Amino acid sequence: MEKEEIHIDLQADSARRDRMDLLWLDPQHLLTLKEAVERGIAVDVEHGAGDLYERVIGNVNGGKIAVDDLNWALEVDALAAKAEAASKAGDYRAAIRHYRAALRLAPGCDLYIMSIGSCYGHLDEDELALRYLERAAQISPSNPRIARNLAAARSNLPERRVVVSCPHCQQKLRLPVGRSGTVKCPNAKCAKSFAIST
Ligand SMILES: [Zn+2]
Repeated sequence: MEKEEIHIDLQADSARRDRMDLLWLDPQHLLTLKEAVERGIAVDVEHGAGDLYERVIGNVNGGKIAVDDLNWALEVDALAAKAEAASKAGDYRAAIRHYRAALRLAPGCDLYIMSIGSCYGHLDEDELALRYLERAAQISPSNPRIARNLAAARSNLPERRVVVSCPHCQQKLRLPVGRSGTVKCPNAKCAKSFAIST
């Protein structure tokens, strides 16, 4: 059952990235934007507010974001708030359940996919953490928070190694995956260099 849910979480995509961006804002910001859209007034962008926030304001002022979108974001955000509360209390399993509920209303949301990944990281389920964080980074490659979380998850994983044989004397050695170059045979009688690609 969980396997199927994980598959749905990771495969779902969203055609409305402008909507997903809204979910990074807190409810106070969403209410301010809703009021501006309802009254038809432009929102000022504070300089240095961040790429994502500036993009949201651009979309709001450009008429791409409607009141419906903001109501939707407020509704989804309320589910995510339950997840955040569970996460703060250290109940990461409950947090994942709430994030998953939010994700059902916002399929392909980079923030919730990232957050589920972080929860799995806290549960020491490193492979799952990495799968979620890699998917979030694939959706939003330039998001600095996702990149930071992904880097942290990667540093938690033990380096995978493979066994390579020296082509001259068949001495076996263990090397990290993903390396290429020249190594010197550790067998002192051989000590020849050879090319590897792991
Ligand atoms: Zn050798």
